[in-house]
Amino acid sequence: MGTIADNLTRIRETLPAGVVLVAVSKFHPAEAVREAYEAGQRIFGESRPQELVAKHALLPDDIEWHMIGHLQTNKVKYIAPFVSLVHSVDSLRLAETIDREAARVGRAIDVLLEVRVAREETKFGWEAAELEHFLQDGSLTGLRNIRIRGLMGMASLTDDPEQVKREFASLRSFFERLRTEYLPEIDTLSMGMSGDYPTAIDQGATMVRIGSSIFGERNY
Ligand SMILES: *Cc1c(COP(=O)(O)O)cnc(C)c1O
Repeated sequence: MGTIADNLTRIRETLPAGVVLVAVSKFHPAEAVREAYEAGQRIFGESRPQELVAKHALLPDDIEWHMIGHLQTNKVKYIAPFVSLVHSVDSLRLAETIDREAARVGRAIDVLLEVRVAREETKFGWEAAELEHFLQDGSLTGLRNIRIRGLMGMASLTDDPEQVKREFASLRSFFERLRTEYLPEIDTLSMGMSGDYPTAIDQGATMVRIGSSIFGERNY
């Protein structure tokens, strides 16, 4: 594995124009983020609010911080003042909380709706039917201080490339349907990680979230 800068260069070369790279820095120290920053990276993803807050305080102001992990409603207030995009909105209660905290700090916060496409039971995210219900009845679209920008999803951890491809394809078609029927302004489909991002891009990802291929293995 090369340096962080080398890894970033190698990955960027494979990304089509228009695909946004979120460098997932969770569990890596602020110095690693700074190294990526010095190599030109400006968008970073974290999975824990405390870590996001700590790194935001330490690192340059022109970084866009994305929250990519499961978010508890009682933690929203810590990240609301500065977070650029929350990828992991998986309940109406969380959406309402982000809306309220955004209003409190005088911002509109961009969010993605996390959809469950993987087979594994443990993955977070909306079931398609449940999400459609809240889009139909206006409870999500009525929230004025969040901007729904699109969807996020994770494929199953499996060695079967066809299954991964099917899951990304189904997320893409759900995205297109929601855009046609309820959310004409959505433009972001966040899918693909170190192990599967080329497949995600083939299936229409506009944003990929890559950690270990940039920063190396994580020490939990
Ligand atoms: C950790 C994480 C990633 C990055 O995973 P890698 O396999 O290290 O690239 C992407 N998305 C989410 C939601 C994550 O939690």
